[in-house]
This record gives sequence, structure tokens and C-alpha cells, in this order.
Amino acid sequence: MLVVMKNDATEAQVQAVIHEIKKLGYRGIPMPGAQRTAVCIIGNKGPVEDSRLLALDGVKETIPVTKPYKLVSRETQPESTVIAIGDVKIGGGGLVMMAGPCAVESEEQALTIARLVAEYGAQVFRGGAFKPRTSPYSFQGLGEEGLKILQKVRKETGLLIVTEATDHTNIEVVEQYADIIQIGARNMQNYSLLRRAGHASKPILLKRGFAATIDELLMSAEYIMSEGNNQVILCERGIRTFSDNTRHTLDLSAILSIKEASHLPIVVDPSHAAGRREYVIPLSKGAVAVGADGILVEVHHDPSQALSDGMQSLYPEQFRELMAEIKLFNR
Ligand code: PEP
Ligand code: MN
Repeated sequence: MLVVMKNDATEAQVQAVIHEIKKLGYRGIPMPGAQRTAVCIIGNKGPVEDSRLLALDGVKETIPVTKPYKLVSRETQPESTVIAIGDVKIGGGGLVMMAGPCAVESEEQALTIARLVAEYGAQVFRGGAFKPRTSPYSFQGLGEEGLKILQKVRKETGLLIVTEATDHTNIEVVEQYADIIQIGARNMQNYSLLRRAGHASKPILLKRGFAATIDELLMSAEYIMSEGNNQVILCERGIRTFSDNTRHTLDLSAILSIKEASHLPIVVDPSHAAGRREYVIPLSKGAVAVGADGILVEVHHDPSQALSDGMQSLYPEQFRELMAEIKLFNR
């Protein structure tokens, strides 16, 4: 349930509502909006008896939330969330470009790619230091050494850094170095990691699991938000279907459904969906056309030598071309 405050409600009145909700045995989370503040009640199993809440000063009305997820729902917060990191704003109509290799392989590799994608207009550099790999024998990432390289990339290029935390043993160190902490598709339902991410001081980029429904993705985001971190960016990166012409199937209609259901920003990763670089530019254009808030693409200066995901990595020149194509959308 949502307790909607009057336009002129004071902070003390909001706190009084939160206090009353606590006395009822639930938690109240304030959701400040452009028009009004609402307090979202979480922790209730069924309907909440609202007469005591309605009697409090500053309360306008109570509204039941019909969805199983509450904090991520547009019912709770009608305005789209905008996550501001430095000068970069994610959500709310703009388009953020995140680009870089699958994995940080060396300082020279990361800096070479970062300089190019920065020159061509990316705002965020991606690159895994901790890599979740299907095979235990594949390159697992450079670990903290990779994070230190990413720090150099930020310093030299000014790009923000998004990099993955693969479990609760490395999220703490990733949090220290990253501007955005990625939680990968394989970990979308790693609930202890999601809860820990809910205590992080940095925004979280949460990727959709290969076999996850949109409701499941939103429930995972709810885990993070319910622990107090409301800076969540969702990511559609392709799902597993019977279609085997591509690595995964990019679910572009998910962007529309998610925008309807949730106020959180959503970016699209066409690289992991396609698995082939030739498909990445057209799929990115599709993502922009359906209203994605950003694109996350893999770029490598020498894909044939990449330690992971070379086949789907754009050449830097192709990233430049992608940027030019996307400008035509005028967003
Ligand atoms: C990645 O971004 O490199 C990655 C491993 O992605 P996903 O979790 O979507 O497979
Ligand atoms: Mn990859």
C-alpha cells in the first residue's frame, strides 16, 4: 500500500507516517516525487488497515499497490528515476553509451580501447575484472589488478566505470573502484548478493537472467531497493529461446513492458544477445527506437586476440559508426 502525502506535507508529517507504519509492524519507505511524496509500506502479507494512517496530518489518501513488487513499480513512483553520476544522467529521456571489452586483459588493452571509445563519445567504460565464465578453465579475469587498471582508465579518460561483482566475496572491493556495480545474468537471482548490493553506496546495473521473466527481474531489483539502494539500472541482454541463430534472443519488447511497469532506467546489451558483431549495430538501433535509456556494448581493438567474447566485440571503428547512426535518432 502507498500512503500519499498532501503536496504541502512537511518532513515531520512524513516521519510520523513512517512511525505509525512501524507501530503496525511494517516498514515505511519514503518515495519523494516531483508532485508529491508517498510512503510505501513493505513487509505486509495482506491488506493493511489504513484508518490510523488516514487520520494523520498531511496524509491525502492510501492507494493499494497491485503488483508484487512495490518500490520498483510505477504505481509507487510515477516519474522515471534518473540516476546522476557526475555529469552523466541515466534515465529520463537521454541515451547513455557504455562501451569496452568483455574483460580487462591488461593495462595497455584497456587504455587503448578506452581512449578510442571516449573519443567517439562513450560516457561509461565497461570491462570485467571478475568474470563469470561457463567453463572453470576459461580466463576468469584479473581480479583486483583489473580494478586498478579500471581506476587508471577513469583517471586518464574521465569515463565512468561499470564492472561486475560476481559474488559476496568481491562486491566490497568492486564497490571501492567502480562507479556502477554490475550484477550479471547468472547472478540475477543470487539473493544474498542482491541484498548486499542493496547496501552498496554505488548504483547497480542488474542484468536480466537468461531464463528470467520480467516480473522476476523486477523482483530482483526489489531485493536491492528494499535494502535501501534505490539506484538500480536494469539491463536486457537477451534470453534463451528455441531460436538458435543468435547466442540469445534480444527481447526488445521487454523495454516497453518494463517502462510501463517500473520507473527504473533500462539499458540494452546487444552484444551478449547477438553473440556476433555484425548484428550489434542494427540491434542497438532497435533498442534506441523502443526507448532504451542506454546501450552497453563490447568493443575490442583486436577482437581475434580477445580473451573472452571476441566474436561479439565491435571494432572501435564500428563503435564510431554506431555512435553516428544513433545520433540520427536525435535523443
Ligand atoms: C558481461 O557483461 O560481460 C557478462 C558476463 O554479461 P552477462 O552477465 O549478461 O552474461
Ligand atoms: Mn562478455
